[in-house]
Amino acid sequence: MTAIIWLRNDLRLEDNPALNTACQIGEVLAVYVREPQSQQTQARDWWLHHSLKDLEQNLTKNGIPLVYLKGDAAEILPKFIQEQKATHLFWNRRYDEAGIKTDTQIKDLYKDDGDVLCQSCKGNLLFEPWEIKNKQGGFFKVFTPMFKELMTHKAPAPTPFNPPKSKRERVQSDLNCALDDFALIDHSKTWHHNFEKVWQIGEAAAQQKLEAFLAEKVLEYKERRDYPSENATSLLSPHLHFGEISPRDIFEQVQAFELAQNEQGNKNIHHFKSEVVWREFSYQQLYFYDAIDHKAINEKFAEFPWSENDAYLKAWQTGQTGIPIVDAGMRELWQTGTLHNRVRMIVASLLTKNMLIPWQEGAKWFMDTLVDADEAANSASWQWVAGCGLDAAPYFRIFNPVTQGERFDENGEYVKKWLPELQDLDKKYIHKPWEASVFDLKLANIELGKTYPKPIVNLKTSREKALEAYNHVKNQ
Ligand SMILES: Cc1cc2nc3c(=O)[nH]c(=O)nc-3n(C[C@H](O)[C@H](O)[C@H](O)COP(=O)(O)OP(=O)(O)OC[C@H]3O[C@@H](n4cnc5c(N)ncnc54)[C@H](O)[C@@H]3O)c2cc1C
Repeated sequence: MTAIIWLRNDLRLEDNPALNTACQIGEVLAVYVREPQSQQTQARDWWLHHSLKDLEQNLTKNGIPLVYLKGDAAEILPKFIQEQKATHLFWNRRYDEAGIKTDTQIKDLYKDDGDVLCQSCKGNLLFEPWEIKNKQGGFFKVFTPMFKELMTHKAPAPTPFNPPKSKRERVQSDLNCALDDFALIDHSKTWHHNFEKVWQIGEAAAQQKLEAFLAEKVLEYKERRDYPSENATSLLSPHLHFGEISPRDIFEQVQAFELAQNEQGNKNIHHFKSEVVWREFSYQQLYFYDAIDHKAINEKFAEFPWSENDAYLKAWQTGQTGIPIVDAGMRELWQTGTLHNRVRMIVASLLTKNMLIPWQEGAKWFMDTLVDADEAANSASWQWVAGCGLDAAPYFRIFNPVTQGERFDENGEYVKKWLPELQDLDKKYIHKPWEASVFDLKLANIELGKTYPKPIVNLKTSREKALEAYNHVKNQ
């Protein structure tokens, strides 16, 4: 018998329930389908290319060929199943509307089919979105009670990988293509060369990262995680997005660490777990709400007076707003494909509140430039900052990028790393160069408006304007 494992965002061998089930059947063929995409995700595509390459090697070593297919999965997969005379099809569930629609179509096709058994598994979350319920039997709209409830449940233990007994070397098919045919990397650009210096991709890299995080950082996580110049977080998000590591595996290893170190109840470890559960919370939103990538969860925001402004948007995207912590963040994003969580909040607040640019524009830019671009986490987080999502930042919470900078980047190390033109500026002015005297600026070789921009918005008046706009929504 031949089982097909259709891999999506679960590019790993360990704790992959669909893969493990397939391996118990007989010969296994792994398939990755490049489905038509609606959104540009260039940085993430770069990661995907390398992740698939790494996975292909690991699968091949275990007698499982990886086949690349291109097109609508509901059309091409049944053709492939027929061509290969496969008897089983397995996958781990996904939670976006378009993905669920395709999966249902395929399941329906084989519902009454005696020749092909089609089965989906739970592999990408600790719990399915519908498993964690509030007292009324619905889903939680606020994070903290959801987290508390989730922690009273025990996630199933991770499943170790067991290779199939019958191994296959290669596949003969008229349908397959090469990984390069996906054209995931635009070789006419050099942008991704920077990413190569920053990231190790794949399942082994994800495991090493978790190991190092537990050994060196988790015990200070809560205290240090908000300081962008410190490498104090796990950096696991792209690995989690692509499923190179599972959240169950993370939880299991964190709990084992907790026991081994006799650190039960440690607040830093607890906080790290809560961040992983924010991921679950965002997947619940993706599952239970329509189109969260562009439709505000809070319906009052349908009429919000956003203002489109291409010049502002461009300055924000390119790190030329004249507000140092924002520009440092946006340049870090461009050069590394990632951005520290605290700075994600600061840049998103400036765009949606001080500039009043629709949050969807920022979310779109992040989707294209983040290696961890994730339909659930990105949309839910943008809606959270803009104030229109679940358990969102209240409308009056407008981050002041100067005070945020002074608090979380006191000596300006982070700003100076990404904005070399401010290298010599006294730390007193590093987050507000417009307040420095002509003498101080000259001393630091800065000419505002020439070597570094003047602030594009007045933080005080733009804040007042934002509050007015948000009051309008509040009073509806
Ligand atoms: C405007 C905005 C956009 C964001 N876009 C994304 C995105 O596209 N993809 C993404 O994975 N995260 C996104 N986040 C959440 C968060 O910034 C990143 O998950 C985090 O910075 C990744 O770094 P880390 O792996 O070191 O996180 P750690 O602090 O080590 O946290 C561990 C894991 O928890 C999860 N996590 C942490 N915070 C959140 C959160 N707020 N929401 C959901 N999951 C979370 C991530 O999977 C992360 O890897 C966004 C946040 C904001 C404010």
